Amino acid sequence: MATETHANEHQEGEESNEPAPAPDELGALEETLLAAILAALLAATTHADRATNTAEDAARRTALLADALLAAADHTPLLNTITTAIRRAARAGADRARNAAPPPPRDTTPTTPGPDDIHRFTEDLTPAANIRFILEDAARIALTLPADRLPAHVRHTAHRLHRELVTAIHKVANRAVAWYARIFGHDLVWTAKAGACPTCTDLSGTVVGTTAGFAHEGADPTVLDRVPPAHRWCRCTITPRPRTRRR
Ligand SMILES: [Zn+2]
Repeated sequence: MATETHANEHQEGEESNEPAPAPDELGALEETLLAAILAALLAATTHADRATNTAEDAARRTALLADALLAAADHTPLLNTITTAIRRAARAGADRARNAAPPPPRDTTPTTPGPDDIHRFTEDLTPAANIRFILEDAARIALTLPADRLPAHVRHTAHRLHRELVTAIHKVANRAVAWYARIFGHDLVWTAKAGACPTCTDLSGTVVGTTAGFAHEGADPTVLDRVPPAHRWCRCTITPRPRTRRR
C-alpha cells in the first residue's frame, strides 16, 4: 500500500489548487486571462459568426450579440480569474524582486506581500468596472455595425479587455517590486523589453530612489503611477538594486 503524504496541504489556503508559477509568471497570467476572456465572449462570438437569411433575423442576431457582450461583464469564471491573476501578479513581482536582490542573511523581514499589502497595491484599480465599461461600449457599437463586421468587432473587444487586464497585472507586479525595494532601501532600475516604445526605451536603465520614482515627461500621470506600465501594453519591469554609497 502506498502511503500518501500531504506536506503541501493547505499551505497556501485558497491557492492550493493553482499550478506552480511558470518561469515567466506574468506571461502565463496573460495567457490565462486571454483564455478566460475568450470563454466569456464565446456566446458573443457564436452570434457574430452565425449566418442569417432575413433582415429580421440579422437584427435579432445583432441584439443577441449585444446582450451577450453585456453578459460577459458578469461572467463569474472571468471575474474569478481576474481576482486570482491580480493576487498572483503581486506575489510574482515580489518574487522577482527577491531573486534580483535577496534579503541580507538572517533578515527575517517578511518579503511576500500579505493581504493588506496586496490591497494597497490594488485598491485604486477597478478591473471589473473597467471591463464592464469596455463591454457596454462594445455592445452599443455592435448595434451600429453591419453584419460582416461583427466577428472582427468581437475579436477587437477581446483585445481591448486583454489590454486592460494585462496592463493591470503588470502594474500590480511592479508595485510589489517597489514595495520590496522600499523595505530594504534599494534603488529601482527600469528595464524595457526589446521593441518597446521610444519613451520606454529611453527610460531603460534609468536608476532612481524608491521615493523619487521615475520622471516621465509627457506620460499620463493617471496611468503612470511612477512605476511601469507607462502606457497600455507596457511590459517594462523595474528591478531593485542595492544602493551604492557615494562620498
Ligand atoms: Zn514600457
